[in-house]
Amino acid sequence: MLASNLDKKKYKNICLIDTNAKIGSKIKVSGGAKCNITNELVTSNNYLGDREFVKELLKNFSKDDLLAFLNKNGVTPKINPKIVKGTYFCNTSQDVIDMFTKITTHVKKYLNTTVLDLDFDKHFKIKTDSKLIEAKKVVIASGGLSYSMLGASSIAFDIAKKFGHSIIKLEPALVGFTVQKEQFWFKNLAGISMPVFTFVDDKRIEGSLLFAHKGCSGPVILTSSLYWKKGKMAIDFLPKQKLESFLHGNKIISSALPLPKRFIQEFLLSVELEDKSVSKLTNDEKTKLLLLKNYEFSPAGNFGYTKAEVTKGGINTDEINHSSFESLKLKDLYFIGECLDITGELGGFNFQIAFSEGMICARELNK
Ligand SMILES: Cc1cc2nc3c(=O)[nH]c(=O)nc-3n(C[C@H](O)[C@H](O)[C@H](O)COP(=O)(O)OP(=O)(O)OC[C@H]3O[C@@H](n4cnc5c(N)ncnc54)[C@H](O)[C@@H]3O)c2cc1C
Repeated sequence: MLASNLDKKKYKNICLIDTNAKIGSKIKVSGGAKCNITNELVTSNNYLGDREFVKELLKNFSKDDLLAFLNKNGVTPKINPKIVKGTYFCNTSQDVIDMFTKITTHVKKYLNTTVLDLDFDKHFKIKTDSKLIEAKKVVIASGGLSYSMLGASSIAFDIAKKFGHSIIKLEPALVGFTVQKEQFWFKNLAGISMPVFTFVDDKRIEGSLLFAHKGCSGPVILTSSLYWKKGKMAIDFLPKQKLESFLHGNKIISSALPLPKRFIQEFLLSVELEDKSVSKLTNDEKTKLLLLKNYEFSPAGNFGYTKAEVTKGGINTDEINHSSFESLKLKDLYFIGECLDITGELGGFNFQIAFSEGMICARELNK
């Protein structure tokens, strides 16, 4: 949370408040400690929320603007599309934290300080667990509810509600799915990963699925969780391939199909189909196998906020000035970052939008 203190000179009149002892704890662990900071292919279609607003944000501070800013400050991310297409990873996350430490040298920092409440009476009074801080302007960038062990709290939403904002339903996202009884066979495959397509809410998502002790996870499922609204979704376990092309000759099913053996064995058990020669399959049995191309199921739920990389939903962006991020309910109060109702897919999209919002807001405050 950034506050602009009363009666001090530019730069020195900015202060930063964070509950953690060090800045950037989420950055530190992001992208496997290599911070997946943006994506070459980013468009507004990678986000949930007001897409027109996202389009505007990406135009006003694009991925090229972000890369130029990072390069200028000594951070040189490189494309590494191993997990998700177009992803930029840093050499290490620490590079990004060092950059922020350097560019905020003149900012007074209140670390180990938790904001408890915000009042307004002629100017802002920020109530923390150790002191009262007064400010002319307040920027709230306190994130969502995910990963409370890294400092997350509900403070942005509490303050927004207090000053009359509406909150679009908050839910864990970029998170694995728990499964219902019919899919308990997923759990027997914990640790196995395979490329799939998922079909969720009119989206086809491509990527790697990881079977887990609680159900399923992996990049493709994390992005699917962003779009999933309770109910059915489907998986194509043979992406870009036709089942029929493997059903010739005398091989048994588990040898004929280009899938992990343990996976196909568990799948066959789940559909009560014997692992027999593909030449002996009846039409009914072929229909069962066709489920591999369109396996419909309803997840039971998800792994929750402790595992979710982000929180979807948030402060209604209709109540925020789109050029400055100032609240339309209270002058001089600003909201940026994950606390707003804009959430990106897995692949660097969430840092990109947090940077776009932060930069646009900062330009406005600098005027
Ligand atoms: C494990 C993990 C990995 C991720 N990896 C990636 C990735 O590689 N690429 C990507 O694009 N996104 C990634 N994300 C998502 C990304 O980290 C967030 O979307 C992004 O950090 C949001 O930025 P923010 O500034 O809005 O909030 P945050 O980065 O969450 O920062 C909020 C800050 O506010 C502080 N705070 C909260 N409440 C209070 C309070 N009451 N008082 C004082 N301080 C408070 C917190 O301590 C925190 O420092 C990842 C998330 C997680 C959890």
